[in-house]
Amino acid sequence: MILIAFGTRPEIIKLFPVINALKEQGLHFRTVFTGQQMDLYEDVKELVPVPDFNFADAFSGKQKHNTLGESFIKICKAAEKLFQENHFDIVVVQGDTTTAYALAQMAFYNGIKVAHVEAGLRTFDLANPYPEELNRVLISRLAYVHFAPTKQAFLNLQREGVGNVHLVGNTIVDAVNFFKAKMNSPATSRKVLVTLHRRENHFHMEMIFDELQFLASGNPDLEIILPIHPNPNVQKHRKRLSAPNIRVIDPVGYPEMLRLIGESYFLITDSGGLQEEGTCFNKKVLVVREKTERPETIEIGLGRLVGKEISKAITWARIPPPPLRESPYGNGHTAEMIAEYLKKYGD
Ligand code: UDP
Repeated sequence: MILIAFGTRPEIIKLFPVINALKEQGLHFRTVFTGQQMDLYEDVKELVPVPDFNFADAFSGKQKHNTLGESFIKICKAAEKLFQENHFDIVVVQGDTTTAYALAQMAFYNGIKVAHVEAGLRTFDLANPYPEELNRVLISRLAYVHFAPTKQAFLNLQREGVGNVHLVGNTIVDAVNFFKAKMNSPATSRKVLVTLHRRENHFHMEMIFDELQFLASGNPDLEIILPIHPNPNVQKHRKRLSAPNIRVIDPVGYPEMLRLIGESYFLITDSGGLQEEGTCFNKKVLVVREKTERPETIEIGLGRLVGKEISKAITWARIPPPPLRESPYGNGHTAEMIAEYLKKYGD
């Protein structure tokens, strides 16, 4: 029995192709939702089946936002009970969230194999991104099987001396293709899609929003669209974005997000997922971070690390990107390969 664990929006987006592939290959599995991101769950919950196990009760009550430690402890407690009361052969976690690390750690304590999807990403700096770099390093120490999305990630894991590493690509390309096939080819507009939410940027959000204001005022032909993250550390500064060509909207569902990416001129983001998705649509990405664990976007000429100095990179962003080629993150058949490996490891 396989357990697929998710608690946040990006985990659901990157695991629904795996769930579909498991169904196609007739494998038995269950799902658990940890409730880590209750507010964003609504936007993406139709991508996955209704979870067999749901820890949302652990997060209910007056308190809307939990510290990292509170989330970790709540998920660990619920996972321990789940593993004591049910039998699983293998637990699948994705990426670098508190959910992924807590489930992996509790599975390990209960003698259950852990399979890690999107393994081996590294910035080699525990402060960037925080706490994700630590989570992913720790998961690599205890996982039994590692699904590396890129050659670089594969090499990182080899260097760390872990076994059972498979280079399979990133399921994000499968997720994009699932919807892209049904989309009309979007015409490029002057829209610039922005997402910002990283914890390391919370302390600088005022400065970053002021940069966006400056950018919007100096480039009146651009229409800046920001689906704003519900985190209060982002929300509390939204009033700073008052330029007439900035539109702050609520988070959107995944198909709508892909439509927005497809018609964008370029992207400005601190998100991991958008650095990958941009390559599926041949969009340039200004990465509002000091370091990235996804160097592939930069290597193919589509990405640039801008830190907080977004406006300085506008001239580069406006230059049309090199011709579209296959995304460095995969060929769209990653989930199938993962399902086949899970069959083998679950036996
Ligand atoms: N996303 C979405 N709707 C939004 C904003 C983002 O569907 O309003 C998607 C986005 O396309 C990407 C994922 O959510 O696949 C990114 O999630 P997030 O930025 O929370 O995390 P990260 O990518 O940094 O892990």
